[in-house]
Amino acid sequence: MKRSVRTTVIAGNWKMNKTPKEAKALVKAIKAELEGKDVSKCEIVACVPYVDLATVIKEAKGSPVKVGAENVHWAESGAFTGEISAAMLKEIGVEYVIIGHSERRQYFGETDQTVNARVKAALSAGLKVILCVGELLAEREEGVTAEVVSRQVKIDLLGVTKEQMANVIIAYEPVWAIGTGKTATSDQADEVCGLIREVLGKLYTKKLAEATTIQYGGSMNAKNAEELLSKVNVDGGLIGGASLKAPDFATIIAAANK
Ligand code: PEP
Repeated sequence: MKRSVRTTVIAGNWKMNKTPKEAKALVKAIKAELEGKDVSKCEIVACVPYVDLATVIKEAKGSPVKVGAENVHWAESGAFTGEISAAMLKEIGVEYVIIGHSERRQYFGETDQTVNARVKAALSAGLKVILCVGELLAEREEGVTAEVVSRQVKIDLLGVTKEQMANVIIAYEPVWAIGTGKTATSDQADEVCGLIREVLGKLYTKKLAEATTIQYGGSMNAKNAEELLSKVNVDGGLIGGASLKAPDFATIIAAANK
């Protein structure tokens, strides 16, 4: 983390977990864990299923927890049955949106082109974007991690202006580490987050790259968070499984506040 120039962001990705009732209970538990603690050194976000958004926004009001969605459509409105637009999210008070998560790329046909369209729509509507990139295990083993991640960053951000980049966070999430219990080593995380920063430096400016928050995600938990967050290029975490357990999520937040 390099707090002098960029914001540390700890974001939970609840995936397809928690009914509205359960979501309310989880936010209450997170708030109770954070009560009286100094969490001013990081931003805290809970990215939750669409049907939980209104409940979580209401329950999180007045607390340090900000709220995000897990996806968004690229069109403003129209014949896209089952989809949700950026304006819909914005109007109910959503602040963040995850785009390009590997589970969407893997199971729902997401491509860098559709990711790019979603990123532009979200930014135009005034949402903050958590853009996920990362290599498959086979790609790491083939030694093409740098190429894969650079290509994703370049295409996913096509047409995104320098000004809009102030609302973009990048989450480096090696696919082989998501939900598997296999974490990248802190050096591996730092290396690829650093590489993403270099790509941003070439696409935009070095100053912008230095100011962009780049998270690590992939089995980050209460035990390994401090080590991962100690790395200079790792500016926070996108956390799946461990964000569903209030004490564990709070321990990660505490690690980001050390
Ligand atoms: C994620 O869903 O983005 C994620 C990193 O999941 P997990 O922490 O469970 O690996």
